[in-house]
Amino acid sequence: MLEDPLNEVKRREHALRIIWERMEEHGRDGIYDLTGLSGGFPLEEEDMDLLETYVGPAIFEEKLQGAGREHMGGEMVAAFNRTSSAILSAVLALTEPGSTVFHYLPELPSHPSVPRSAQLASAGYHETEDFTENPPADTSLVVVTGSTMDHRVVEESDLVRVIEMAHDAGVPVLVDDASGARLRTVLFGQRRACDLGADLAVTSTDKLMHGPRGGLMAGRAELIEVVKSKAYQFGLEAQPPLIAAMARALENFEPSEIMDALKRKEEFLRDFRPGVEETPTGFMIRPSSVEGLNGSGYTEDEISTAISMLLLSEHGIVTIPAVGMPGASKTLRFDLAARDAGRLEVSSLQAAIHDAIEKLSGIIPDDEKMRRLILG
Ligand SMILES: *Cc1c(COP(=O)(O)O)cnc(C)c1O
Repeated sequence: MLEDPLNEVKRREHALRIIWERMEEHGRDGIYDLTGLSGGFPLEEEDMDLLETYVGPAIFEEKLQGAGREHMGGEMVAAFNRTSSAILSAVLALTEPGSTVFHYLPELPSHPSVPRSAQLASAGYHETEDFTENPPADTSLVVVTGSTMDHRVVEESDLVRVIEMAHDAGVPVLVDDASGARLRTVLFGQRRACDLGADLAVTSTDKLMHGPRGGLMAGRAELIEVVKSKAYQFGLEAQPPLIAAMARALENFEPSEIMDALKRKEEFLRDFRPGVEETPTGFMIRPSSVEGLNGSGYTEDEISTAISMLLLSEHGIVTIPAVGMPGASKTLRFDLAARDAGRLEVSSLQAAIHDAIEKLSGIIPDDEKMRRLILG
C-alpha cells in the first residue's frame, strides 16, 4: 500500500486532515506532537518590521552567520529550504557525472535525499555500514550520516577515520548531521563535525530544537560558496523569513531540554511491556515485537503507519509514520525531547499506545478498514 508514492501523498494528507479536525474540536491542546520535528518559527516583533524592508535580509544573514557558526563550527554557513535541498545542492555542486558518491552510515537505510541527489547528478551511489571499507578511486564525494532517521548515532572514532581516509584520497566529506549536530554533541559528548575535519556539515533546524524546517550547512568557505551558487540556480536556498527564524531558533537553542527527555524516557520505560527499543531521546516500537499483529500479510511499515494513524485520530499523538514526507522512515518513534512531551503524562502515553495496538488488532483482518485507516 505504501510502496506507491501516490499513496504516500494520500497517507500524509489524510493525517493532516485528522490534525485539522482535532484542532477544530480541541484547539492546539488536543495535539501532542512527539515527532521531534517541531517546526517552530520563533520570530520577534522587531524581525517582523525588518522583513518588510530591504535591510532585513542583510541583518538576518549576519545573525545566521554568527549563530550558525557557533552551533556548527566551520568558516561559513548557508541556509537552505530543507536539509534535503542542502544535500542536493552539495551533490550537484561537488560531483562529476559518472563519479561515485560513497555514503557511510551507522545503520541502513539512508535518508532518501542522498541516493536521489546522486541519481539527479548522474553519479553512482554506494552506501555501507562498514566504516573500514575504502571508497573506490572514482569517488568524488564522501557522505557520512552522523545520526540516522531512527537516531542511530555514529561513533566519533568511525567518523574521524573515514574523514581521514577520504582526505588522504583528496575527496571532500559532507556530514549529514540532520539530527546528529545535537544528538552527537549534547547526548554523546562528541565534537562538531567541522571540528573533526568535515569539509561540509548540514543540520536541520527543526530536529531537536525549536526552529523551522530548514537546512543549515556549515564548512569551508570556498565549498560553501560553490554549493550556494548551485542552490541559487535551482531555488533551493532559504528565503529571508526562513533565515530570520532559523537564526532566532539557533540563538534560543537550549541543550538542557534534550537532557530533560532522558528523565521522561526512564519513567516511561520503567513499567511498559510491549517490545520497545530505546532511542537517544525516547523509544521506538517495532511491530514485529508486538504480539497479535504478526502474520497479517501487512508489511512492518504498514502496521507502524496504522498504529501511528490510530494514535493520531484517537489520542491526538503525532508520530512520523502518519505525517512524515513520502519515503521518510516508518519507524514508530516517540521523541520525548519534543516540547509537547512535557504536556502529556507518561501514563496517558502508555495507555494510548496500548489502546492503539488493541484497536488495530480488531481492524487488521479487514482489508477495506485497513485501507481507510491509512489512506482515508
Ligand atoms: C531529516 C533528515 C534529512 C532531511 O531533512 P528534511 O528537512 O526533511 O529535508 C536528511 N538526512 C537525515 C539523516 C535526516 O534525519
